[in-house]
Amino acid sequence: MDFILIILVVAVSVLVIVGIRRAAQTYLEFRGERLIECPENHKPAAVRVAVGKAALEAAVGNEQLRLSACSRWPEKQGCGQECLSQIEDSPKACLVSNIVDNWYQGKSCAYCHKPFGAIRWHDHPPALVDRERKTIQWNEVPVDKLQEVMSTHLPVCWNCHIAESFRREHPELVVDRPASHSRLSILH
Ligand SMILES: [Zn+2]
Repeated sequence: MDFILIILVVAVSVLVIVGIRRAAQTYLEFRGERLIECPENHKPAAVRVAVGKAALEAAVGNEQLRLSACSRWPEKQGCGQECLSQIEDSPKACLVSNIVDNWYQGKSCAYCHKPFGAIRWHDHPPALVDRERKTIQWNEVPVDKLQEVMSTHLPVCWNCHIAESFRREHPELVVDRPASHSRLSILH
C-alpha cells in the first residue's frame, strides 16, 4: 500500500513539474508586445498574447494562443485573430524589444557617432531624432508606427538624448563651444 502511494506521489510530482515547466516556457516565449502585419488591412498592428491563459493551458497540455490586446481594438475586436500564426511561426522576430534592439545593431549615434553596443534599456535607454532635430524616446512611439518611425528617424544614444533635450528645453542655459554642437548626421 505504501509503495503504491509513493508511486502515485512521484507520478503526480512529475506531472506537476512538467506542467510548471511548460507553463514557464510558454509564458517566457509569448510575453511582451509584438508587431504583426494585420491580415485584414495588411498594415502593422501592435498586439499582446493572453500569456497567462496560454501558460495555464500549456501546463495541462492544451495551449491555444489568443490575443489580450491589439492596437486595432475595440473597432476590430471580433476579428478571427489570424495574425496569431505570425507569432506562432516566429515569436522572437515580431517581439517589439527584439525589433528595436536589432535596429540599433551596427548603427552609431547620430550626434556623437559612438557605435551602439549592448542596449541598456533599464537605465540608459537609447532614443531617436527626427528631421526637426527633436529627440524622442521609444515610449513616445506607438508600436504600430514603429516601422515608419525607424525609416524616418536616426538613432541617438542616451547621453546625447539627455543633452539635446536639455538644450531644447533650456536654450538660455546652454553655451556652445565652437564645433561642439550639431554634428548630427544628415537624415535621408
Ligand atoms: Zn551620442
